[in-house]
Amino acid sequence: MLGLGDMGSALAARLVDTGHPVTVWNRTPGRDKPLIEVGAEAAATVADAITAQPLIVACLLRHLSVHETLDPVVDGLRGRTLVNLTTTTPNEARELAAWAAEHDVSYLDGAIMAVPDMIGSREAQIFYSGSQTAFEQHRDIFDTWATSTFDGRDAGMASLIDLAMLSGMYQMFAGFIHGAAMVGSEGMTATEFAARTTPFISAMTNGFAGYAEVIDGGDYAVPGQQSLEFSDLSPIVRASDEQGVNPATLAAVQALISRQIAAGHGSEGLARIYESLRADDRTFGGVA
Ligand code: NDP
Repeated sequence: MLGLGDMGSALAARLVDTGHPVTVWNRTPGRDKPLIEVGAEAAATVADAITAQPLIVACLLRHLSVHETLDPVVDGLRGRTLVNLTTTTPNEARELAAWAAEHDVSYLDGAIMAVPDMIGSREAQIFYSGSQTAFEQHRDIFDTWATSTFDGRDAGMASLIDLAMLSGMYQMFAGFIHGAAMVGSEGMTATEFAARTTPFISAMTNGFAGYAEVIDGGDYAVPGQQSLEFSDLSPIVRASDEQGVNPATLAAVQALISRQIAAGHGSEGLARIYESLRADDRTFGGVA
């Protein structure tokens, strides 16, 4: 295990707990102490670490950290398997996969959908993509950490799904915080707003499946949908403004809606903003 930050330490600890032999290394010395106390082996150098076990797991800060750590020892990686759980973009994962292939290293990229405390529970999820052989060979280990899913041979896929899910999460959090600022302008606490809004937003997430059906079907005019005109958010943008609260998060959504209405699609469903977001349609208002 290369990298003993919060996440790397949790992953290594789980391996120790489940009886797997683990060798640990961290750039800054000392972070391995709690793991050594429970039975992990310490490696003095990266070169020692990568030759100690057949499976090498990296959980470092970012893409560049992986290169900084492994480039100098790449010859020692030849013929081994590298699982990279460091968060990267899809293209960074693909770049690492190509680099690994060039050096005869079997490469699997992983994306962790959990916080360290969740490691070892079924609620934690880790997505993998890249070498299917590596995934199948080491699945027992992966399953000790989380519910494991293989997302195909494109090494960038696990990261793409991870980042897409995080995009949804952060926009939802920003939406909550914007709402809290709106009611906060009249003195309601964010705590009360959270209690009031959580059941509502939770229920609304049931709508994902319906939007998904329309998007996948490609017919935004299918009957029974909430139309774009009906979804006009300008009253909410105005209310936010009038309360002295910056409507920036909502205005971005309204801009996507307005664009589709302006293009003559107002009677079609809200899901049509998918078209405003597609890669071939990135010029609108600097949104993309
Ligand atoms: P931490 O900040 O706790 O630890 C970062 C780790 O990366 C440390 O071991 C640090 O070593 C090491 N590191 C940073 N830069 C370098 C470098 N240039 N060369 C070598 N080692 C380096 O982060 P986490 O453990 O929380 O996260 C690790 C990865 O896991 C990240 O990519 C993160 O996005 C991902 N992740 C984390 C989650 C979480 O909830 N924590 C959730 C999902 C994914 P040093 O001690 O020497 O600084």
